[in-house]
Amino acid sequence: MGVDRVLLAEPRGFCAGVEMAIKALAWMVRVFEPPVYCYHEIVHNQLVVDRFRRLGVVFVDEVAEVPPGAPLMLSAHGSAPEVVEAARRGGGVVVNAVCPLVTKVHHEVKTRAGKGYTVLYVGHEGHEEAVGTMAEAPAAVRLVETEDDVEDLADPGTPVALLAQTTLSHDEWSGVVDAARRRFPDLWMPGRSDLCFATTNRQTALKAVAGTADAVVVIGSENSSNTVALTKVARAAGCPRVYRVDGPDEVPDDLSGTVAVTAGASAPEELVEAVIQRLAPRIPPERVAVIDEEEYFPPPRELRELVRAVVAAASLAVGAPPPPTTPAEDRALSASQVLHALDGPLVDGATMGL
Ligand code: SF4
Repeated sequence: MGVDRVLLAEPRGFCAGVEMAIKALAWMVRVFEPPVYCYHEIVHNQLVVDRFRRLGVVFVDEVAEVPPGAPLMLSAHGSAPEVVEAARRGGGVVVNAVCPLVTKVHHEVKTRAGKGYTVLYVGHEGHEEAVGTMAEAPAAVRLVETEDDVEDLADPGTPVALLAQTTLSHDEWSGVVDAARRRFPDLWMPGRSDLCFATTNRQTALKAVAGTADAVVVIGSENSSNTVALTKVARAAGCPRVYRVDGPDEVPDDLSGTVAVTAGASAPEELVEAVIQRLAPRIPPERVAVIDEEEYFPPPRELRELVRAVVAAASLAVGAPPPPTTPAEDRALSASQVLHALDGPLVDGATMGL
C-alpha cells in the first residue's frame, strides 16, 4: 500500500439517533437478564449487531417471536403503528428507540393523510424506515423512488404532499422534488425537507474531500441507506475510485496517493481507526471538518422512567441517595465508549484512540 495521506471527513460515523439507540439498548442489556429482544437490527451495522448478540440480545423480524413479558426494544428506524401496539400488548417492558426525526415524518404522514392528501413518499422499497413510515396511512401513501415513478402515477384526485425517507442523498431527493412540482403545482411539502441533518452533514463533509482524493473509502454496511448514499456522493464529486467497506479487511491493497475516509451514520469510530491502520498513510491523518455537529437526542422516555426506577430501587437497597443520571452525563458518554466498556474493543486491537 502506498498511501501518502488520509483525509478524514468530519462529521462522520454515529449520528445522534444511532448514539441514542445504542446507548438505550446497552442500558436494557445491563438492567435485564438475557435475553433482551430487539425488533429489527438496532442499527444497520453488523459489528454492532454482533456485539449485542454476544451480550444476549435476540433480534427478531416479528413481534410475535417475542415471548410474553420479555423486554423488547424497537429499533431506531421506526416501527409501524401495529407493531408498536402488538409490542405493548406483549406485557413486557417496551422501549421505542425510534429516532425523533423519523417520528416527525410518521407524524407528517398521518396528519396529511388525515387531511385528505395523497402522500408521495420518496424512499427505498423494503427499507425498514420506509416500511414503518408508510404503514401510518397505507391507503394514502404512494412510494416513489425516481422521477419516472412520479410521471407514471395515476391522477390521485386529491391534494398531494411530498415526504421522504430521512437518509436519502440530496441527489436522490432533488430530481424527484422537481418532477413532483412539475406534475402537481399545488404540492404540499414541509418547510424543511425530511432529509436529516446527519445525512446531509456527512454528505457535505465528504464532498469537501472527495473531489481531490485519489480514492474514497466509505465505511458502513451494504444495507445502510445513508452509507450507500455517501458512495453516490463521492462518485458524483468525481472521485475515480470509491469503495464501501464493512471493515479494514475489505480495503483494496493497491490504494495510493490521497485517500478520503468517511463512515455512515451507523458505523462505529473503532472501524475508522482500524481502516486508517490498514491504509498506513505516510503522515498522520488530516481531519477536514466542515460542520460542527451538536445535535443530541436524550434516551427514549420509557427508558428514562425505567432507569429512574432501577436507580431508586438500587439506592433504597443500599440506603444511599440515588446517583444523578442527568442528560449532561448521558451526553458526555459516547455510544462507542459504551460498547467498548460493555465487552471490550469491537475491532481487534482498537484503542478508541482517535
Ligand atoms: S440518520 Fe438521521 S434520521 Fe437516521 S437515526 Fe441518524 S439522526 Fe435519525
